[in-house]
Amino acid sequence: MIPAAFEYYRPTDMAGVIALLQEHGDDARVIAGGHSLIPMMKLRMAEVPHLIDLQDIDGLGAISVADGVVRIGAMTTQHDIINSDALKAAAPIMKEAALQIADPQVRYMGTVGGNVANGDPGNDMPGLMQCLNAQFHVTGPDGDRVIDAREFYEAAYMTEREDDEVLTAISFAAPLGGYAYEKQKRKIGDYATAAAAVQMSKDGGKVATASIAMTNLSDVPVWSKAAAEALIGSTCDDASLKAAITAMLDDIDPTEDNRGPVAFKRHAAGIVLGRAIARAWSRA
Ligand SMILES: Cc1cc2nc3c(=O)[nH]c(=O)nc-3n(C[C@H](O)[C@H](O)[C@H](O)COP(=O)(O)OP(=O)(O)OC[C@H]3O[C@@H](n4cnc5c(N)ncnc54)[C@H](O)[C@@H]3O)c2cc1C
Repeated sequence: MIPAAFEYYRPTDMAGVIALLQEHGDDARVIAGGHSLIPMMKLRMAEVPHLIDLQDIDGLGAISVADGVVRIGAMTTQHDIINSDALKAAAPIMKEAALQIADPQVRYMGTVGGNVANGDPGNDMPGLMQCLNAQFHVTGPDGDRVIDAREFYEAAYMTEREDDEVLTAISFAAPLGGYAYEKQKRKIGDYATAAAAVQMSKDGGKVATASIAMTNLSDVPVWSKAAAEALIGSTCDDASLKAAITAMLDDIDPTEDNRGPVAFKRHAAGIVLGRAIARAWSRA
């Protein structure tokens, strides 16, 4: 199918983007890599009369690590993330997760901003951002503001971002210790049936800190505080691992779809989380 007709704009500054968003309201969307939006438009699941391309806005594609804070511009592609030496050193979970998104063609185009702003429960970056306790930087007619990733997602495709605000960057403190991103999918290029992001640090042979978030197991990403708490202070033995999985299962709310029935998704969630904790602990 081809999309419905639309006007295409390519402003060269953010003021121009925001002016267009204000002028056209709900009839306008920004476009980044287009690898979520264009398929939706072609399937006629989204009709966007005014499409505003962010490609020509300077400064949205930078990655920096300074004073222990990682900052990634919204237009940074998944390919850029995979190939960033700075990110590999400061937050290697970013590369591990990005490599499990779709396929190289999609990763050349798909941006971190589009991935987190879209609000698609199947996207991998939102859960990862919650695991990392990231902040989302947005700009709009009333200026700049920062929204915690853990507060950003309201429901599928509904977020705290206002229609006339643009996500400019994400940032987070460089994480400590071991990490793992584990994803179960039906085939290469597929969205997750279940995925787990885990960061853990070790002190004196015990878990000092832990953060756990799950993907595609609810209509929003699930940051499971209780699962992390089940690990903290333990030696990451079998009993605490099982307690963490049980706590996570209490927090998720999967629904049946073409990736399987609820019981299967809960089973897959437990498996991916168990594997992710084991790998993160081995790296801590
Ligand atoms: C075959 C296929 C498989 C895929 N598999 C996966 C997968 O396994 N895991 C995964 O995570 N993703 C997957 N994706 C999605 C892919 O990663 C997308 O590219 C990404 O989610 C969206 O990024 P984008 O830059 O293409 O955004 P776009 O498609 O350009 O935009 C998506 C939405 O976000 C909004 N938006 C974009 N940028 C901004 C911004 N800076 N500020 C505010 N709003 C913004 C747009 O208005 C739009 O509503 C897949 C895509 C395809 C086509």
